[in-house]
Amino acid sequence: MNPENRDVIQEKLNYLETMKFNPKKRKENPIQIKYEEPNKTNLKVDSQKTKFDANNKRNFEYIWNKIQEMREKRDSVVDVMGCHCAHDRNAPKEIRDFQLLVALIISVQNREESTYAAVQRLKQHGLNAQNIYNTDESKILEIIGGVNFNKTKAKNIKNAATLIVEKYDGVVPNKWDVLLTFPGVGNKIAVLFLNFGHGLEVGIGVDTHVHRISNRLGLVHTKLPDQTRVELESFVPKKYWSEYNVLFVGFGQQICLPINPKCEKCLLNNICPEGKKKLEGENENVEIKSLKKHKKNQRSEMETLEKIEINLNLKKEKTETPTLTLTVEDLYKNFSKSWKKPE
Ligand code: SF4
Repeated sequence: MNPENRDVIQEKLNYLETMKFNPKKRKENPIQIKYEEPNKTNLKVDSQKTKFDANNKRNFEYIWNKIQEMREKRDSVVDVMGCHCAHDRNAPKEIRDFQLLVALIISVQNREESTYAAVQRLKQHGLNAQNIYNTDESKILEIIGGVNFNKTKAKNIKNAATLIVEKYDGVVPNKWDVLLTFPGVGNKIAVLFLNFGHGLEVGIGVDTHVHRISNRLGLVHTKLPDQTRVELESFVPKKYWSEYNVLFVGFGQQICLPINPKCEKCLLNNICPEGKKKLEGENENVEIKSLKKHKKNQRSEMETLEKIEINLNLKKEKTETPTLTLTVEDLYKNFSKSWKKPE
């Protein structure tokens, strides 16, 4: 029992004792027990620390710096197995570019680990445009194995090698619009190829992670990754474009997970609309549980009080019930004038 409540009950018991159990009086002055309200303010996230805005574009620099802080160790899967580190760094530039392009083609809707392993197997086979040009599509399919959409990707890799050898003299073109003519190469691949391979800040590579996190944070409000790219490029300073993808993807792999993001650990939970919603929802649950528990305690304490009151009533009634024990002599003494002792 809450010590404060115990004091209140004791006070009420004292009151009952002095009431002489006059039911009428009790009715006029019903007993009221007041309980302290639980401290709701302690349970909530402090949203006043930083200005909250459902449209967080104006907080972009703050968001960027906080994600940098959370990603300080650069130890997510994308940091060690991303497309930008799958190619052979010591190979000549045209081979590195081809390997990067192949890695990017395989990476579409595929996990980093699986993409990385497939590229390593292709490298063992000989991952350069000429060799892939000479390799059967079925063999490429066999090497890349169980990656998602493996048949389409094997075909795209083969077609890309054919185009590069036959049309571009064995060199992957470094023009965004030309890259888009390659089968299986969309905006994201073209942008990332030019970012990673040529250090060109031609755009922001937006995949599902980047799309999801940018929307959660209120940086954009879009339905499709391509819309997100256009929207982001309208206000994100160019100096951040080439780093944006890897920074956000790693953040999405470690903290802002697709399911059950770790908002409680996230340094942006004070300005992120999604994080605020999630944490306040959790706090509300805590509040509801706390209130339920409080009400349960309140009920049981009331019951205890009622029981004590009933017991006291019974005791009092017992002691107050007049028990008249008179002898014949007593009667004679008291009523002698009008009463005659029987013969
Ligand atoms: S608060 Fe949660 S939803 Fe928002 S960015 Fe952080 S982890 Fe993602």
